[in-house]
Amino acid sequence: MATQIKNGDFAMMGQEPGRQPKIFYPHMNLEQRVPRTHVLRRIQERIDFSFIYAEVRDTYGGNGNVSIPPPVILKMMLLLVLYNVRSERELMETIPMRLDWLWFLGYDIDSEVPDHSVLSKARVRWGVEAFRRFFERVVWQCVEAGLVVGSKIFVDSTLMDADASNNSVIDTRSLKVQLQEGYKKLEARLEERSEGTRRYVKENRRYISRTDPDAGIVNRGKPKLSYQVHRAVDGRGEVITATETTPGDVNEAHEMIPLLESHHLNTGVKADTVVADSKYGTVENFLACCDQGVEAHMPDLKESTAKRIEKLNIFSEERFEYDGESDTYRCPAGQRLKPKSLHMSRQSRDYAAPKKICGACELREQCTRNKSGRTVKRHLRQEELDGMREASRSAKAKRDIKMRQHLMERSYARGTRYGYDRARWRGLWRVQIQEYLVSAVQNIQVLLRYGSYLKRSPSVMMEEIKGTVTRSIRSFSEFNELMNSKIGRMVLSDPNYPRLSFIET
Ligand code: SF4
Repeated sequence: MATQIKNGDFAMMGQEPGRQPKIFYPHMNLEQRVPRTHVLRRIQERIDFSFIYAEVRDTYGGNGNVSIPPPVILKMMLLLVLYNVRSERELMETIPMRLDWLWFLGYDIDSEVPDHSVLSKARVRWGVEAFRRFFERVVWQCVEAGLVVGSKIFVDSTLMDADASNNSVIDTRSLKVQLQEGYKKLEARLEERSEGTRRYVKENRRYISRTDPDAGIVNRGKPKLSYQVHRAVDGRGEVITATETTPGDVNEAHEMIPLLESHHLNTGVKADTVVADSKYGTVENFLACCDQGVEAHMPDLKESTAKRIEKLNIFSEERFEYDGESDTYRCPAGQRLKPKSLHMSRQSRDYAAPKKICGACELREQCTRNKSGRTVKRHLRQEELDGMREASRSAKAKRDIKMRQHLMERSYARGTRYGYDRARWRGLWRVQIQEYLVSAVQNIQVLLRYGSYLKRSPSVMMEEIKGTVTRSIRSFSEFNELMNSKIGRMVLSDPNYPRLSFIET
């Protein structure tokens, strides 16, 4: 019960008015309610959502009800990710309560909010392509703002939990499962998909989830249904320049070259260095980089395997010396290993000593467990491979590899805020849409952070850096001109509050 206050007592204290709902709000102005520095106002100023009209025009018919405008739908999906709202139903329930969201969507306080199903229908209608274009456009804006150098990219992948329970996994070879009616429908669905244009093939076809057959089972401690997110990040502003999503059980090493190509398409700059961890250091990746004239700064996968072999007290291949003139290897016992069989499928040749010599060798216990003796494999392009591996051990490569770890961890840690680590929807194509939206939001944040800084102070700060000459920059055009020139480089001394310096070299 409300406390009664007598007249005269505390007369100057304001009293809460009775709850009488207002019918009209004549002085209400949404435009004034959203502060100038509000993140949604800044997004509205910088990002063009109207491109989506042209992008999805062909997916709408000429008859029936008029749809919700595509830019409004795209903005709703952006809000879903930016504020990490749990579900589309919750998003639609929250919109009428948030004045900033209403303003951003171009709604009024009494506008009718559509049903949550408009978002899932739009995803089906538009497909992945529209969201990929949105992501690419944001990347391009970052390039235009001078936030991407493009010559060096950092690559990594991480797992994302699928929206499916482990209990939904079935063994497709089990007779009991195959006799169930539901399994036949599932098989038909899978057949239908494999006939489509899916680029990825799940590696484990035996155990699949009934609720999300695209998700892969990954055993890291305990088996989990997962997807895998692959990203290429540029070092300057930590802009995500390319991204791919695959089932969790796909080998990440296969994604490096597609990421390199997407980076080129999205930024217009061909990277000359790619930095990755040892999982990417495969023979195929080293040679692909060699063919494209790209430096591969990544630890060699073979070296980590060699360390494991050494632990088993077996001689690693480094203990065998190659002699180019005679095309033979000299083993630790001083014997010659001559070329034997050629394997075209793996592009390598086997070298071995006669079985009798290995059989009588004193070092046999440390060399091989094979009864026919030791075999050493040599790739047909071994010289090029050795050159690439040598370059990946340089001091510069080691610095890049160290930097990669922090940079990529930061990129994924920032993505957690937008829910990249848990799939919102089921099916690979929907998860790809989610990743494009999350990456676009992360890039927009970079654009707002650094872009506005440049806008505020066109005369970029000067720094005296030992042994270098610095130049003052007075305008954006001069800034862009310098960025495109080859006479120096721009330095971001603090990623959180960037002090930009141009160093002439
Ligand atoms: S086992 Fe054969 S290859 Fe190995 S060290 Fe002895 S002779 Fe050489």
